[in-house]
Amino acid sequence: MNKYDFAIIGGGIGGLIMAQILNKKGQKVILLEKEKQLGGAIQGFSRMGVNFDTGAHYIGGIEKGQNLYQYFKYLGIVDELNIEKLDVNAFDKITFESNGKTYCYGQGYDNFVNVMSNYFPENRGEIQKYVDEIRKVGEAYPMYSLDISKGVEIKLEEKHLYQSVGEFLDGITQNQELKNVLAASNLVYAGNSETTPYYVHALILNSYLSSSYRFVGGASQLAYRLLEKIEAGNCEVRTNAEVSHFTFGEGKEIKTAVLNNGEEIIADNYISNVHPSVTLDMIPKDKIRKAYRMRIQSLENTYSVFSIYIVLKPNSFKNHRYNSYYFSDDDIWSEENIEPTWPKTFMMITQSSTKNSTYAEGITAISPMDYSFVEEWAGTKHKSRPQSYYDFCQQMGNKFLDLLEKNHPGLRNKIKYYEVSTPLSYEHYTNSPRGSLYGIIRNSKDPIRTHIAPYTKVPNLFFVGQNIDIHGILGITVGAFMTAGLFFDVKKLLNEVKKS
Ligand SMILES: Cc1cc2nc3c(=O)[nH]c(=O)nc-3n(C[C@H](O)[C@H](O)[C@H](O)COP(=O)(O)OP(=O)(O)OC[C@H]3O[C@@H](n4cnc5c(N)ncnc54)[C@H](O)[C@@H]3O)c2cc1C
Repeated sequence: MNKYDFAIIGGGIGGLIMAQILNKKGQKVILLEKEKQLGGAIQGFSRMGVNFDTGAHYIGGIEKGQNLYQYFKYLGIVDELNIEKLDVNAFDKITFESNGKTYCYGQGYDNFVNVMSNYFPENRGEIQKYVDEIRKVGEAYPMYSLDISKGVEIKLEEKHLYQSVGEFLDGITQNQELKNVLAASNLVYAGNSETTPYYVHALILNSYLSSSYRFVGGASQLAYRLLEKIEAGNCEVRTNAEVSHFTFGEGKEIKTAVLNNGEEIIADNYISNVHPSVTLDMIPKDKIRKAYRMRIQSLENTYSVFSIYIVLKPNSFKNHRYNSYYFSDDDIWSEENIEPTWPKTFMMITQSSTKNSTYAEGITAISPMDYSFVEEWAGTKHKSRPQSYYDFCQQMGNKFLDLLEKNHPGLRNKIKYYEVSTPLSYEHYTNSPRGSLYGIIRNSKDPIRTHIAPYTKVPNLFFVGQNIDIHGILGITVGAFMTAGLFFDVKKLLNEVKKS
């Protein structure tokens, strides 16, 4: 029987990056993915020849010399990605129904200040302070700034760890309209004004302000480029390979990972890209301390979304080189939504295609949706759920189209075909509890408890993916290097990234 140095459970972007780091370090690796397709939340699909993204609509820090660029260069994929820059003066457009205004986010720190100051000329100093402060957080994280001259430890001020994004913005300005605009893209971190740590907002916005790009032809290309690299090395990739549980010997270490078909995989180390609480369910009760299991499994997860995927009639809708955020009221903290008033907000993108850059072929839009909306169909089989579920999908799809139509009058007439997905779809495809978008909620009121370390109480079990450090393509990449830092000299590793 083959024995591996590492078995990676889950072929989302976290598992794939981890595999490529280990591959570059000459390790013998097996990656086990339960689905037919790799990529987890970034896997794509196509309808009528139009590609759709299920996650990862835009990435930041990807310009030459910036952090994600350097990491992807080290991983050997940066030159092979098909990406395009979003509008320099408007990578995000924020529209409020209440005042009928649209505000744009500019790329580049100075440009962001300039563009935003057009709407709020009297608050220019505060906008500058906002940008300076979020840059400081980026600089405090050597793994984000890639400045390791003073070591690799995070130098975040304690107040930033315990400060919520709402408290931070209160400290920047008293102008409520400006606060709403600055926090309007909080769907990218499933934000809560009172509990989302300020550093989460800062690291993500810092990355998009430095540069904002999207994938041409879908984010799933990331998974395919990584797959090519790891398969060319000493790494075996298995799809349709769901791990059901781990076995243990006499000691505290995992002996094998067992697949659904009973096959056992033997490795020295096991790295799980699966949600931590789902991973712990794969471990026999007596093999892990109850307190540790309870701590992880009691943590709350971020909300899920309802998505709509629209195939457009040819040449009917202009391609947007920006992301649209829309709010039907001034409550930009979109977590709260109940059925009668749903949907109140959305994020919408036109799918970038290799075939036509003037007109869009497809649109993807998402709106936060609590799992309780679909709970009655939990446990039913994907693609053959009861008719009542499909009726619900149709009803919600129609409501969603009504809201999209408000922001884009005439859209309905441009639609050739559409379909939707719900929190149950995300749960099915990623195994993320209740279809949670970004996994475990980081909480500024309890930052230590809600922070998940890459190591566990089982000596040869580790985590990688969005529950470590921060979610999103950049956050997961940095997190994968943190996990790798448990096996290799992290300073040396980061130097290699920097010099690659
Ligand atoms: C709608 C949406 C929009 C987003 N937009 C952006 C964006 O614009 N920019 C950005 O940077 N990020 C974005 N994100 C976030 C980003 O896509 C995710 O953080 C990231 O893809 C998660 O990757 P992961 O590897 O941690 O987990 P996942 O992608 O969830 O991967 C986990 C993998 O493990 C597999 N698995 C689960 N259980 C088992 C098992 N028992 N055995 C074997 N395999 C198993 C799953 O099938 C899956 O492939 C978005 C996410 C969503 C959902």
